[in-house]
Amino acid sequence: MAHEMRSPIESGCPDGFQYMHPVMCKNYGQWAYHEDVRPGVLVHVSNNGDKIYTVRAGTQRILDLFTLRKLCDIGDEYGEGYIHFTIRSNIEYQMADEARVEPLIKKLEDEGFVVGGTRNSIAMISHTQGWLHCDIPGTDASGVVKSMMDELIDEFKGWNMPNRVHMTTSCCQINCGGQGDIAINVQHTKPPKINHDLVSNVCERPSVVARCPVAAIRPALVNGKPSLEVDEKKCICCGACYPPCPPMQINDAEHSKLAIWVGGNHSNARGKPTFQKLVASGIPNNPPRWPEATAVVKKILTAYKDNAKDWERMNDWIERIGWPRFFEKTGLPFTKYHIDNWRGARNSLNSSTHIRF
Ligand code: SF4
Ligand code: SF4
Repeated sequence: MAHEMRSPIESGCPDGFQYMHPVMCKNYGQWAYHEDVRPGVLVHVSNNGDKIYTVRAGTQRILDLFTLRKLCDIGDEYGEGYIHFTIRSNIEYQMADEARVEPLIKKLEDEGFVVGGTRNSIAMISHTQGWLHCDIPGTDASGVVKSMMDELIDEFKGWNMPNRVHMTTSCCQINCGGQGDIAINVQHTKPPKINHDLVSNVCERPSVVARCPVAAIRPALVNGKPSLEVDEKKCICCGACYPPCPPMQINDAEHSKLAIWVGGNHSNARGKPTFQKLVASGIPNNPPRWPEATAVVKKILTAYKDNAKDWERMNDWIERIGWPRFFEKTGLPFTKYHIDNWRGARNSLNSSTHIRF
Protein backbone atom coordinates (compact mmCIF):
# COMPACT_ATOMS: atom_id res chain seq x y z
CA MET A 1 0.00 0.00 0.00
CA ALA A 2 1.25 3.46 -0.85
CA HIS A 3 2.72 5.44 2.00
CA GLU A 4 0.63 8.51 2.87
CA MET A 5 2.89 11.53 2.30
CA ARG A 6 2.45 14.79 4.16
CA SER A 7 1.80 17.74 1.89
CA PRO A 8 4.79 20.02 1.32
CA ILE A 9 5.09 23.19 3.38
CA GLU A 10 4.98 26.22 1.14
CA SER A 11 7.51 28.57 2.63
CA GLY A 12 7.87 31.17 -0.11
CA CYS A 13 6.96 34.82 0.06
CA PRO A 14 3.53 35.37 1.68
CA ASP A 15 0.77 37.12 -0.23
CA GLY A 16 1.50 40.83 0.15
CA PHE A 17 -2.12 41.94 -0.21
CA GLN A 18 -3.04 40.81 3.29
CA TYR A 19 -0.63 43.44 4.71
CA MET A 20 -1.54 46.31 2.41
CA HIS A 21 -3.66 49.31 3.27
CA PRO A 22 -7.24 48.81 1.94
CA VAL A 23 -6.90 51.91 -0.28
CA MET A 24 -3.79 50.35 -1.85
CA CYS A 25 -5.60 47.06 -2.46
CA LYS A 26 -8.61 48.81 -3.94
CA ASN A 27 -6.48 50.88 -6.35
CA TYR A 28 -3.95 48.24 -7.28
CA GLY A 29 -2.62 49.08 -10.76
CA GLN A 30 -4.75 52.23 -10.90
CA TRP A 31 -2.36 54.90 -9.60
CA ALA A 32 -2.27 57.99 -11.83
CA TYR A 33 0.63 59.97 -10.32
CA HIS A 34 2.38 60.85 -7.09
CA GLU A 35 3.68 64.06 -5.54
CA ASP A 36 6.31 64.84 -2.95
CA VAL A 37 4.46 66.82 -0.28
CA ARG A 38 7.53 67.58 1.86
CA PRO A 39 10.74 65.69 2.67
CA GLY A 40 9.78 62.19 3.76
CA VAL A 41 6.12 62.43 2.67
CA LEU A 42 4.56 61.19 -0.57
CA VAL A 43 0.98 61.27 -1.77
CA HIS A 44 -0.19 58.83 -4.44
CA VAL A 45 -3.32 59.71 -6.36
CA SER A 46 -5.45 57.12 -8.11
CA ASN A 47 -7.39 57.47 -11.36
CA ASN A 48 -10.61 57.67 -9.32
CA GLY A 49 -9.24 60.43 -7.05
CA ASP A 50 -8.42 58.21 -4.03
CA LYS A 51 -5.29 59.34 -2.21
CA ILE A 52 -2.86 57.59 0.05
CA TYR A 53 -0.13 59.30 2.08
CA THR A 54 3.21 57.73 2.93
CA VAL A 55 5.50 58.93 5.71
CA ARG A 56 9.07 57.58 5.59
CA ALA A 57 11.38 57.40 8.61
CA GLY A 58 14.94 56.08 8.74
CA THR A 59 15.92 53.11 10.87
CA GLN A 60 19.22 51.47 11.68
CA ARG A 61 18.21 48.30 9.73
CA ILE A 62 19.38 45.85 12.39
CA LEU A 63 16.41 46.60 14.61
CA ASP A 64 16.09 45.43 18.19
CA LEU A 65 12.69 44.15 19.25
CA PHE A 66 11.95 47.13 21.50
CA THR A 67 12.50 49.67 18.71
CA LEU A 68 10.45 47.58 16.31
CA ARG A 69 7.57 47.41 18.79
CA LYS A 70 7.81 51.14 19.39
CA LEU A 71 7.67 51.86 15.63
CA CYS A 72 4.65 49.57 15.26
CA ASP A 73 2.87 51.14 18.25
CA ILE A 74 3.39 54.58 16.71
CA GLY A 75 1.85 53.24 13.49
CA ASP A 76 -1.19 51.88 15.35
CA GLU A 77 -1.78 55.07 17.33
CA TYR A 78 -0.84 57.84 14.89
CA GLY A 79 -1.10 56.12 11.51
CA GLU A 80 -3.71 53.65 10.30
CA GLY A 81 -1.90 50.46 11.32
CA TYR A 82 -0.16 49.77 8.01
CA ILE A 83 3.61 49.80 7.50
CA HIS A 84 6.24 48.37 5.26
CA PHE A 85 10.03 48.54 5.05
CA THR A 86 11.96 49.80 2.05
CA ILE A 87 15.04 48.12 0.65
CA ARG A 88 17.15 50.83 2.36
CA SER A 89 15.78 50.01 5.81
CA ASN A 90 13.32 52.87 6.07
CA ILE A 91 9.94 52.29 7.65
CA GLU A 92 6.96 53.68 5.71
CA TYR A 93 3.53 54.37 7.23
CA GLN A 94 0.52 54.48 4.89
CA MET A 95 -2.66 56.40 5.63
CA ALA A 96 -5.65 57.72 3.71
CA ASP A 97 -6.38 60.51 6.20
CA GLU A 98 -4.16 63.54 5.51
CA ALA A 99 -4.86 64.92 9.00
CA ARG A 100 -2.75 62.12 10.50
CA VAL A 101 0.44 63.07 8.64
CA GLU A 102 1.73 65.96 10.78
CA PRO A 103 0.95 64.38 14.22
CA LEU A 104 2.68 61.18 13.06
CA ILE A 105 5.80 63.08 11.96
CA LYS A 106 5.85 64.97 15.27
CA LYS A 107 5.58 61.77 17.28
CA LEU A 108 8.36 60.07 15.24
CA GLU A 109 10.66 63.05 15.71
CA ASP A 110 9.84 63.33 19.43
CA GLU A 111 10.85 59.67 19.78
CA GLY A 112 14.20 60.37 18.09
CA PHE A 113 13.47 59.03 14.60
CA VAL A 114 14.23 61.00 11.44
CA VAL A 115 11.73 61.61 8.67
CA GLY A 116 13.06 62.09 5.13
CA GLY A 117 14.95 60.14 2.48
CA THR A 118 12.73 61.03 -0.47
CA ARG A 119 13.36 62.89 -3.76
CA ASN A 120 16.73 64.76 -3.96
CA SER A 121 17.95 63.76 -0.52
CA ILE A 122 20.65 61.34 0.57
CA ALA A 123 18.72 58.11 1.06
CA MET A 124 19.59 55.85 3.99
CA ILE A 125 22.88 54.06 3.28
CA SER A 126 22.21 50.43 2.51
CA HIS A 127 24.50 48.00 4.23
CA THR A 128 25.26 44.33 4.41
CA GLN A 129 24.94 42.07 7.43
CA GLY A 130 28.53 42.15 8.59
CA TRP A 131 29.46 40.68 11.91
CA LEU A 132 25.87 39.99 12.87
CA HIS A 133 25.29 37.00 10.60
CA CYS A 134 27.95 36.58 7.96
CA ASP A 135 31.16 34.59 8.21
CA ILE A 136 33.61 36.65 6.16
CA PRO A 137 33.28 40.38 6.97
CA GLY A 138 36.38 42.52 7.24
CA THR A 139 34.53 45.47 8.75
CA ASP A 140 31.25 46.23 10.47
CA ALA A 141 29.21 47.76 7.65
CA SER A 142 26.41 48.82 10.00
CA GLY A 143 28.90 50.76 12.14
CA VAL A 144 30.22 52.59 9.07
CA VAL A 145 26.63 53.49 8.14
CA LYS A 146 25.80 54.77 11.62
CA SER A 147 28.92 56.96 11.77
CA MET A 148 28.34 58.44 8.32
CA MET A 149 24.60 58.99 8.65
CA ASP A 150 25.18 60.80 11.98
CA GLU A 151 27.11 63.39 9.98
CA LEU A 152 24.83 63.42 6.93
CA ILE A 153 21.49 63.34 8.69
CA ASP A 154 20.49 66.87 7.59
CA GLU A 155 20.88 65.70 4.01
CA PHE A 156 18.48 62.83 4.73
CA LYS A 157 15.93 65.26 6.19
CA GLY A 158 16.20 67.90 3.44
CA TRP A 159 15.99 68.26 -0.31
CA ASN A 160 19.38 69.87 -0.86
CA MET A 161 21.21 67.60 -3.28
CA PRO A 162 21.11 67.93 -7.11
CA ASN A 163 19.34 64.54 -7.30
CA ARG A 164 18.85 61.46 -5.18
CA VAL A 165 22.06 60.03 -3.71
CA HIS A 166 22.22 56.32 -3.01
CA MET A 167 25.11 55.12 -0.89
CA THR A 168 26.03 51.55 -0.09
CA THR A 169 28.53 49.74 2.06
CA SER A 170 29.86 46.21 2.00
CA CYS A 171 31.87 44.34 4.56
CA CYS A 172 33.82 42.05 2.22
CA GLN A 173 35.26 42.63 -1.20
CA ILE A 174 33.41 40.08 -3.30
CA ASN A 175 29.77 39.63 -2.40
CA CYS A 176 26.78 41.80 -1.54
CA GLY A 177 26.55 45.57 -1.30
CA GLY A 178 28.74 47.99 -3.12
CA GLN A 179 26.61 49.42 -5.91
CA GLY A 180 25.53 53.04 -5.68
CA ASP A 181 26.29 56.67 -6.40
CA ILE A 182 28.91 56.25 -3.66
CA ALA A 183 30.02 52.84 -2.38
CA ILE A 184 32.22 52.25 0.65
CA ASN A 185 33.73 48.79 0.30
CA VAL A 186 36.32 46.69 2.06
CA GLN A 187 39.66 46.45 0.27
CA HIS A 188 42.12 43.70 1.09
CA THR A 189 45.72 44.65 0.46
CA LYS A 190 47.65 41.44 1.06
CA PRO A 191 47.31 37.79 -0.05
CA PRO A 192 45.71 35.28 2.33
CA LYS A 193 47.78 33.74 5.11
CA ILE A 194 47.37 29.96 5.12
CA ASN A 195 47.12 27.90 8.31
CA HIS A 196 48.42 24.62 6.84
CA ASP A 197 47.45 22.56 9.90
CA LEU A 198 43.76 23.20 9.27
CA VAL A 199 43.40 23.12 5.48
CA SER A 200 43.08 19.35 5.08
CA ASN A 201 40.37 19.12 7.75
CA VAL A 202 38.33 22.14 6.74
CA CYS A 203 38.69 22.89 3.03
CA GLU A 204 37.55 21.11 -0.07
CA ARG A 205 40.71 21.83 -2.00
CA PRO A 206 39.47 21.49 -5.63
CA SER A 207 36.65 23.96 -5.02
CA VAL A 208 39.02 26.46 -3.40
CA VAL A 209 41.42 26.15 -6.35
CA ALA A 210 38.53 26.64 -8.79
CA ARG A 211 37.32 29.67 -6.91
CA CYS A 212 40.37 31.86 -7.56
CA PRO A 213 39.68 34.25 -10.48
CA VAL A 214 43.38 34.45 -11.46
CA ALA A 215 44.39 30.81 -10.91
CA ALA A 216 46.80 31.74 -8.12
CA ILE A 217 46.00 28.75 -5.86
CA ARG A 218 47.61 25.35 -6.27
CA PRO A 219 47.33 22.14 -4.24
CA ALA A 220 50.48 21.47 -2.23
CA LEU A 221 51.88 19.09 0.37
CA VAL A 222 53.12 20.96 3.42
CA ASN A 223 54.80 19.07 6.27
CA GLY A 224 53.41 15.87 4.76
CA LYS A 225 49.83 17.12 4.89
CA PRO A 226 47.65 18.07 1.91
CA SER A 227 47.33 21.82 1.79
CA LEU A 228 47.32 24.75 -0.66
CA GLU A 229 49.75 27.39 -1.79
CA VAL A 230 49.23 30.84 -3.26
CA ASP A 231 51.27 32.43 -5.99
CA GLU A 232 51.49 35.86 -4.40
CA LYS A 233 52.63 37.54 -7.62
CA LYS A 234 49.35 36.57 -9.28
CA CYS A 235 47.03 37.08 -6.28
CA ILE A 236 44.81 40.17 -6.57
CA CYS A 237 43.82 40.00 -2.86
CA CYS A 238 40.13 39.59 -3.66
CA GLY A 239 39.30 37.33 -0.70
CA ALA A 240 37.23 34.86 -2.77
CA CYS A 241 39.16 31.89 -1.32
CA TYR A 242 38.42 32.81 2.29
CA PRO A 243 34.68 31.87 2.45
CA PRO A 244 35.13 28.24 1.29
CA CYS A 245 38.43 27.91 3.17
CA PRO A 246 38.58 29.88 6.46
CA PRO A 247 42.19 28.80 7.13
CA MET A 248 43.10 31.14 4.23
CA GLN A 249 42.71 34.15 6.51
CA ILE A 250 42.67 37.42 4.59
CA ASN A 251 40.96 39.81 7.01
CA ASP A 252 43.48 41.68 9.04
CA ALA A 253 43.20 44.69 11.38
CA GLU A 254 46.08 46.43 9.66
CA HIS A 255 45.80 45.39 6.00
CA SER A 256 42.03 45.30 5.45
CA LYS A 257 41.22 48.83 4.34
CA LEU A 258 38.25 50.69 2.93
CA ALA A 259 37.93 51.92 -0.65
CA ILE A 260 35.44 54.41 -2.04
CA TRP A 261 33.87 54.04 -5.46
CA VAL A 262 31.48 56.38 -7.27
CA GLY A 263 29.03 56.49 -10.14
CA GLY A 264 27.41 53.04 -10.10
CA ASN A 265 23.89 53.11 -11.48
CA HIS A 266 21.39 50.65 -12.83
CA SER A 267 19.90 51.42 -16.20
CA ASN A 268 16.77 53.55 -16.26
CA ALA A 269 14.47 55.07 -18.86
CA ARG A 270 17.15 57.57 -19.88
CA GLY A 271 20.47 55.81 -19.50
CA LYS A 272 22.44 52.58 -19.66
CA PRO A 273 23.86 50.97 -16.52
CA THR A 274 27.13 52.47 -15.37
CA PHE A 275 30.00 50.80 -13.54
CA GLN A 276 31.23 52.40 -10.38
CA LYS A 277 34.87 53.51 -10.42
CA LEU A 278 37.50 53.69 -7.71
CA VAL A 279 38.25 57.17 -6.34
CA ALA A 280 39.97 56.54 -3.01
CA SER A 281 41.75 53.46 -1.70
CA GLY A 282 43.72 52.36 1.31
CA ILE A 283 41.49 54.30 3.71
CA PRO A 284 41.97 53.09 7.31
CA ASN A 285 39.27 50.69 8.50
CA ASN A 286 39.02 52.63 11.70
CA PRO A 287 36.18 51.80 14.14
CA PRO A 288 34.20 52.96 15.98
CA ARG A 289 33.64 56.16 13.92
CA TRP A 290 35.61 55.68 10.66
CA PRO A 291 36.50 59.43 10.44
CA GLU A 292 38.83 59.07 7.43
CA ALA A 293 36.20 57.36 5.26
CA THR A 294 33.52 59.85 6.31
CA ALA A 295 35.81 62.77 5.40
CA VAL A 296 36.30 61.42 1.85
CA VAL A 297 32.56 60.84 1.39
CA LYS A 298 31.80 64.37 2.57
CA LYS A 299 34.34 65.85 0.13
CA ILE A 300 32.65 64.04 -2.77
CA LEU A 301 29.18 65.07 -1.63
CA THR A 302 30.15 68.71 -1.15
CA ALA A 303 31.69 68.90 -4.63
CA TYR A 304 28.63 67.21 -6.16
CA LYS A 305 26.20 69.47 -4.30
CA ASP A 306 28.09 72.65 -5.29
CA ASN A 307 28.75 71.80 -8.93
CA ALA A 308 26.16 69.42 -10.40
CA LYS A 309 23.17 70.75 -12.30
CA ASP A 310 19.64 70.13 -11.06
CA TRP A 311 18.63 66.47 -11.47
CA GLU A 312 22.11 65.30 -12.49
CA ARG A 313 22.98 62.01 -10.78
CA MET A 314 26.55 61.53 -9.58
CA ASN A 315 27.58 59.56 -12.69
CA ASP A 316 25.94 62.11 -15.05
CA TRP A 317 27.82 64.93 -13.36
CA ILE A 318 31.20 63.16 -13.56
CA GLU A 319 30.61 62.23 -17.17
CA ARG A 320 29.85 65.86 -18.02
CA ILE A 321 32.86 67.39 -16.28
CA GLY A 322 35.31 64.49 -16.82
CA TRP A 323 37.46 62.60 -14.32
CA PRO A 324 40.36 65.10 -14.18
CA ARG A 325 37.91 67.84 -13.10
CA PHE A 326 36.22 65.46 -10.65
CA PHE A 327 39.53 64.92 -8.84
CA GLU A 328 40.21 68.69 -8.98
CA LYS A 329 36.80 69.57 -7.53
CA THR A 330 36.91 67.00 -4.76
CA GLY A 331 40.58 67.61 -3.90
CA LEU A 332 41.19 63.84 -3.84
CA PRO A 333 44.59 62.68 -5.14
CA PHE A 334 44.71 60.82 -8.46
CA THR A 335 47.31 58.05 -8.23
CA LYS A 336 48.68 55.31 -10.47
CA TYR A 337 46.42 52.85 -8.60
CA HIS A 338 43.38 54.41 -10.26
CA ILE A 339 44.43 53.07 -13.64
CA ASP A 340 43.06 49.59 -14.27
CA ASN A 341 45.92 47.79 -15.95
CA TRP A 342 45.07 44.28 -14.85
CA ARG A 343 45.85 42.00 -17.77
CA GLY A 344 42.96 39.61 -17.09
CA ALA A 345 40.20 42.25 -17.03
CA ARG A 346 39.12 41.67 -20.61
CA ASN A 347 38.48 37.97 -20.08
CA SER A 348 36.68 38.31 -16.77
CA LEU A 349 34.44 41.10 -18.00
CA ASN A 350 33.61 39.15 -21.12
CA SER A 351 32.31 36.33 -18.93
CA SER A 352 29.51 38.62 -17.75
CA THR A 353 26.13 38.16 -19.41
CA HIS A 354 25.62 41.95 -19.49
CA ILE A 355 28.81 43.26 -20.98
CA ARG A 356 30.78 42.18 -24.01
CA PHE A 357 33.66 43.92 -25.66
S1 SF4 B 1 29.31 41.97 2.02
FE1 SF4 B 1 30.42 40.03 2.28
S2 SF4 B 1 30.84 39.89 4.50
FE2 SF4 B 1 29.24 41.43 4.21
S3 SF4 B 1 27.31 40.32 4.49
FE3 SF4 B 1 27.77 40.33 2.27
S4 SF4 B 1 28.90 38.41 1.91
FE4 SF4 B 1 28.93 38.80 4.13
S1 SF4 C 1 42.65 36.30 -2.52
FE1 SF4 C 1 41.61 36.03 -4.50
S2 SF4 C 1 43.25 36.13 -6.02
FE2 SF4 C 1 44.24 35.77 -4.02
S3 SF4 C 1 44.43 33.58 -3.88
FE3 SF4 C 1 42.49 34.08 -2.89
S4 SF4 C 1 40.96 33.87 -4.54
FE4 SF4 C 1 42.96 33.98 -5.53
